[in-house]
Amino acid sequence: MKQEIKGSYKQLIVDTGIEMVRKGITVGTWGNISARDPESGLIYISPSGMDYSTIQPQHVVVMDSELNIIDGAAEPSIEKHMHVAVFNARKDVNAVIHTHPVYSTAFGVAEQNLPGVSEDFIQIVGAEIQVATPYELPGTEALGEVAVKGLGTNNAVLLPGHGALVVGADMKMALKVSMVLEKNAQIYIYAKMLGGDGHIRLFGQNEIDAMQEFAKNHYGQKNKDLYS
Ligand code: 13P
Ligand code: ZN
Repeated sequence: MKQEIKGSYKQLIVDTGIEMVRKGITVGTWGNISARDPESGLIYISPSGMDYSTIQPQHVVVMDSELNIIDGAAEPSIEKHMHVAVFNARKDVNAVIHTHPVYSTAFGVAEQNLPGVSEDFIQIVGAEIQVATPYELPGTEALGEVAVKGLGTNNAVLLPGHGALVVGADMKMALKVSMVLEKNAQIYIYAKMLGGDGHIRLFGQNEIDAMQEFAKNHYGQKNKDLYS
């Protein structure tokens, strides 16, 4: 495999960090981002504990799939075990985003799985995502193991008392899913507070199937026939 180190991937990590903070889905220096170059298999990860506005491309750490450091002028994220464990378990994933968002984290704190209650979530995430149990401390290999297990074949998982972990075929998708996840969690909590009886309308399997098929094959500029 070619081991070329690419500046474009380093820049992607820098830009995504700034975007993540701008979108309000993490706080301070928390959260972390990684991307895998499918050509070389190399993993590019954000540095540990640095303000996102100060991270320069040279601070992005490049590792192989066994956590050997190949390049980078900073210490990698303490969550390197979790990121690499996800890439090793999921060949379909080339981008991983870990955030500390408010509403999604509430579900992890309550140890409640999060069902999809808004159409965008159903379309690109699915019917429900899991809380990764048991609780494991940040930066540990054990956290990586429970995160991978809780993620399964989904593209998001909740880390109890901690945050969210989202994966995607590329960074654009992982960022989109991160936003939709947080929005769905916020809507769920607000909806629970309305009316007093706590009623939540969950989608039926036929509705879920139809929306996922629509999102995959018809949404956007692809085809005018909805739900064919
Ligand atoms: P890093 O700054 O080392 O990436 O850690 C932040 C974090 O979110 C740990 O879970
Ligand atoms: Zn974290």
